[in-house]
Amino acid sequence: MRFAVVAPHPDDEAIACGGSIASWEGEKCCIFVKWYGPQRKKEAIASCKILGAEPVFLDSESELKTVLKNISPELVLSPYLKDDHHYHRHVSKLVRRIWKGALWEYETWVPIGKPDTAVWFDEEMMRKKMKAIAAHKSQCKYRDWPKAMKGYNFWRATVMPSLLEGHGSGARQKAKYCEAFKVVR
Ligand SMILES: [Zn+2]
Repeated sequence: MRFAVVAPHPDDEAIACGGSIASWEGEKCCIFVKWYGPQRKKEAIASCKILGAEPVFLDSESELKTVLKNISPELVLSPYLKDDHHYHRHVSKLVRRIWKGALWEYETWVPIGKPDTAVWFDEEMMRKKMKAIAAHKSQCKYRDWPKAMKGYNFWRATVMPSLLEGHGSGARQKAKYCEAFKVVR
């Protein structure tokens, strides 16, 4: 399969989808809409290398439509429409407008109220995810994002079976960690 993750900023791809990207087989691409100069770009390249994804850096938002068309992914991941970060919401709206294929939205600053699906993964992929997040050195200086996401994805895996299949359904965790998504289409 061919996947494209649209990241408003370098680090969103790893924080929100690092476990999924690392787990998925196929062609994987992270599109960075804004990237704030050579240091952040270098960090994004290092993160993508760990996740096995191809980084793409846009010079402007208007390139996004053409880039998506050229990559022609089978699934696009983009920020949750109700994220707390204004620029994430902006990119979310933009992607909904210009991309009519399969689209999932991911969590960064706020949890998705009612996720529709999850990608499950184990300790090995979590280690990769944490390494990919830590590659964004400038963003991890004041916040321990790797540890935060390890805890958050563990919590997600704990509640997800009941959220998806109902309380009392007896549904079990498929792995130790998961990332949750809203399926837009
Ligand atoms: Zn961001």
